[in-house]
Amino acid sequence: MENHTDAAILELAHGRYADAGDEYTLAAYADLSGTGGNRRSLFDPDGAEWAGYAVESFLLAAVCYRLAGDDERARNRVGQGILVVGDLRDDVLSDAVLRAACFEWVGHLRTVVGDADRAATAYDRAASGYADADPEDAVSWTTNPLLQAGTNAVCHLSRPDDVQWDEIHGSDPSTALTRRVQFARSRLPSMVAARIDAGTLHAPRGSTEYGTGQFRCPDCGSDDVNYVADTVLCLRCDTPVDRV
Ligand SMILES: [Zn+2]
Repeated sequence: MENHTDAAILELAHGRYADAGDEYTLAAYADLSGTGGNRRSLFDPDGAEWAGYAVESFLLAAVCYRLAGDDERARNRVGQGILVVGDLRDDVLSDAVLRAACFEWVGHLRTVVGDADRAATAYDRAASGYADADPEDAVSWTTNPLLQAGTNAVCHLSRPDDVQWDEIHGSDPSTALTRRVQFARSRLPSMVAARIDAGTLHAPRGSTEYGTGQFRCPDCGSDDVNYVADTVLCLRCDTPVDRV
């Protein structure tokens, strides 16, 4: 079966944002139905939080449609993401940390379409939800799929600046969860604006290698590469590289 996330990344590499939006949308549906790479469905009793990767795909689809000039479809994908996390929060997940993470997702999704007021309300509820849950090991929660997918989305939208985990979560382990909400609330709007202004969503950062001497970007000449989506892209400009 086709991997729609990989297909979306290849469309990003070619700057075909409407097609990338379509592929990310299909990636979301595949993940929700359990036919995606994670093989976990939205209602998997041991893995509903894996739906975070589907919501990440809805968010990236929305950014792609905005880049393609189609704000209506961007809002549609944001709406779908919000409906999914609402269902998770109200009827599927029981853990207080994960329910707070659903509000965090609403904040991210609304931010992508410039709905700042309602994003702020959602981020407030996420922060108070995390504070009330007050888990013993907050840092370990950040690798739960529902939260990890959110970190991935923030890191992807930060490219080419590439924010790091420490920047998002801060240096105090006990406040890692509330800090990530503050980070997204203050930084995500400018990240989204920068991508729209530049007209570019870069490919996500996979594993990277500098000065390879084995590849050459046909566009910018760099031999620094990004191994992602089962292919090799220029780390500088996302163009698929040639082997030399
Ligand atoms: Zn290049």
